[in-house]
Amino acid sequence: MDDHVLHRAFIQGSRDEDRGDSTRDMPPKRSQAKQKGKDDGTDASKKKRAKKTKAEVDQDNETKAEGTIPQGWRLAEPTLLENEGKEEHAHKVAAFDLDGTLVLTKTKLTFPRDEHDFRVYNEEVPKKLKALQEQGYRLVILSNQGAIKSAVTGKMAHKVMKRVDLVLEDLDITCKVILSTSKDIYRKPETGMWTHLVDNCNGGLNVDLQNSFYVGDAAGRDGDFANTDKEFAEKIGLPFKTPEEMFGPAQEIIVKNPSNMELVQIFKHLSEVEKDGFKRRAFEKVSGVLMDCKEAITSGKQAMAMPGVGKGSAGIIDEFLSTGRVEVLEQLAAEKQAGPNKEEKAGLQFLD
Ligand SMILES: [Mg+2]
Repeated sequence: MDDHVLHRAFIQGSRDEDRGDSTRDMPPKRSQAKQKGKDDGTDASKKKRAKKTKAEVDQDNETKAEGTIPQGWRLAEPTLLENEGKEEHAHKVAAFDLDGTLVLTKTKLTFPRDEHDFRVYNEEVPKKLKALQEQGYRLVILSNQGAIKSAVTGKMAHKVMKRVDLVLEDLDITCKVILSTSKDIYRKPETGMWTHLVDNCNGGLNVDLQNSFYVGDAAGRDGDFANTDKEFAEKIGLPFKTPEEMFGPAQEIIVKNPSNMELVQIFKHLSEVEKDGFKRRAFEKVSGVLMDCKEAITSGKQAMAMPGVGKGSAGIIDEFLSTGRVEVLEQLAAEKQAGPNKEEKAGLQFLD
């Protein structure tokens, strides 16, 4: 398959997937078009309506939003971003790290690709968080987001705050969130975020340290990338737990029909080696769709009946099913030897 065709197919695929979002962002244009009788439901009018891809609309919104702090958030202290945290103040605090603790990335990628790239650590998380709230704990998330640096109103900051909003929505909880953005006294294992919480965000109530706790995955165990969470809790005098101790083992990704496992892995691998962000997200999406598919996939055409699978992906599926190989994957994997690209480097810092 030639690259041009593949790319075009992905663009169209993404338009199809994301039309709901992009049109929601542009209701006046749609209704105007309808009034003028231009939105006649033909392919031509559909194409016109979907002129802007989801990525382009996102880009427009981001550009407009840059320089401001999103609704529900504010800048506290010189380098802390915090949400409103309207829930009740309390003496008992159940505090959590975010990445690797409450959420993981969707496709087992090490770093979140964008604000939508998260899945809840396991099914116990929402239940336990709700139970803690009922027991009178105030839920708090304290997260290092060093990729933001001093650009607290910049693009990365917006992405991070949006991702947190989506996580809270998914968990269906209210929770105070404080994000440290720079390498300073607020960055774990330093304790500035905690001091800020107690001094400024808890209605003057002191925190009962013995009956509060902090949960984080950076605990200095074999395979942990750091021990910053554990050190943070120790410096404060907070009892510390790992996510495993709090919630049990992380939810494994389940491929609903094991015969689709190879295809899932191929698209996951493609999403890891693809340089183009647009195609990468399309590959991630296909990987997720195939994971959830109960039937065994035996052709690209069959896969295309599922939302999110475009012509390009269908071609890859057919190629693999008939030859056992995916040429584009082999090419990308070879190119990947050259090292991480700029976006990936940014991604490396996104999860902190
Ligand atoms: Mg973490």
